[in-house]
Amino acid sequence: MTETSQLALRNPRTGEIDAQMPVTPVDAIHRLAASLRAAQADWARQTIEARCQRLDALADAMQARRAAFCKVLLADTGRWHETQIEVDGTIAAIRRWAAQAPQCLADDEPRQEAIPFIQTRQTWVPYPLLGVISPWNFPLMLTLIDAAPALAAGCSVIAKPSEVTPRFVPLLREALAEAGLEQVFALVIGAGATGQAVIEVSDTICFTGSVATGRKVGEACTRRFIPASLELGGKDPALVLSDADIEHAARAIAWAGFVNGGQSCMSIERVYVEAPVADRFIAALVAQANALQLAWPDPQQGQIGPIIAASQIAVVRRQLDDARARGARALTGGELVEHGGTWCPPTVLVDVDEDMLVMREETFATVLPVVVVADEAEAIARANGTEFGLSAAVFTQSPERAQRVARQLEGGGISINDASLTGMVQTAEKQSFKFSGMGGSRMGKASIRRFVRARALLINTGAASPWWFPAV
Ligand code: NAD
Repeated sequence: MTETSQLALRNPRTGEIDAQMPVTPVDAIHRLAASLRAAQADWARQTIEARCQRLDALADAMQARRAAFCKVLLADTGRWHETQIEVDGTIAAIRRWAAQAPQCLADDEPRQEAIPFIQTRQTWVPYPLLGVISPWNFPLMLTLIDAAPALAAGCSVIAKPSEVTPRFVPLLREALAEAGLEQVFALVIGAGATGQAVIEVSDTICFTGSVATGRKVGEACTRRFIPASLELGGKDPALVLSDADIEHAARAIAWAGFVNGGQSCMSIERVYVEAPVADRFIAALVAQANALQLAWPDPQQGQIGPIIAASQIAVVRRQLDDARARGARALTGGELVEHGGTWCPPTVLVDVDEDMLVMREETFATVLPVVVVADEAEAIARANGTEFGLSAAVFTQSPERAQRVARQLEGGGISINDASLTGMVQTAEKQSFKFSGMGGSRMGKASIRRFVRARALLINTGAASPWWFPAV
């Protein structure tokens, strides 16, 4: 794959190409990798506390540039409110790792084994160079969410943000330099070919993106015999059971389906509601949708930003056309709106069936198809009837029923009486099921173990081992 030397950057609010950025040449990526590796040896020798102080310094440097980060992210993504949350959430995540990492990777004390004269000691050895490849929907957060714990663990990092949303890169480089991290953390710019070059130079990969690209990344990593942590797409279901608090469920599902213009991996993209409460729930959801407005012309007024990636517009349009052609009805929204950029008004679809594209493929827009089901068993079977398995939500006022249903859903994070909580809570461990991904938990304390290899020190404290050959 070859790439042009400049990326053309499109503003999703206006649809205009209004900036360019130079693509990092492949030979420069190889040189950068060599220098990151050279610096990593010293970095790993520092105490974890010293490395975490640098992470705190990075958080400070980003905080000092908060307004500038928000400005460039607004230019790339077109949304205001989520950008504030993204910048603040990223800074908070870095500080959390700076505080937690020392306990997560403390070497164990010498441990007496069952064999009386053998002790063991557990140590952790960082991979020299982590490669991060990230998508456009939360450009800053998804570039740093893996990089921060990896730096704490003692890795160097080379990161390639999405070619759709790289405007934050110069600002982050500045913050890294101020924090004294530029020797161990480099950012490169480009599309797929640049991502491939990152895989070629790295010792382990954290990829966030689509299933189709994840498959290519997984294959490339397998060829190189390096681990790949793949965080991929979703088609998250919400189950509204007959004893749910309906207003509460409608509010939570509207937020989880429509926030960030539906462009989150853990957006709710399918709703299954039990028949006795279906009419009430659908009316409440439509009322929620009707109360939301496009954040146009003022990005600070209204809740729904534009479709960020130009390539996604055709995907959403095709799914809406297909749904309509097969008999679905939009109770609200249903047609894309042009304001220079393209916008999807909050859309509630009924009369949908499982064959429609909107029920099978990731939509990544403000579209909520609602299916009425006879009972809990049907809701669970339909919710699990997908190749994805990222996360899900269950609404019921019975704690026993919530547990029973949640434990049958095929996904790594099940929100109960809320939705998309995995986007807000980063401390509970979760893994992706089915085509939604592969690898260890990105959340919680286990996350950091993805960046180290376990090395056991096995110590004979003095005796001759009885399994040896006889002394001569
Ligand atoms: P994408 O797969 O198109 O691109 C992701 C990244 O991969 C980009 O940086 C891109 O340049 C790079 N890339 C493309 N081809 C490559 C190749 N051959 N080798 C290496 N890198 C390559 O995804 P996208 O459209 O940017 O992002 C949206 C997708 O991300 C959605 O499917 C969404 O669900 C998913 N996502 C998942 C999570 C999660 O945590 N599971 C979080 C956010 C987004």
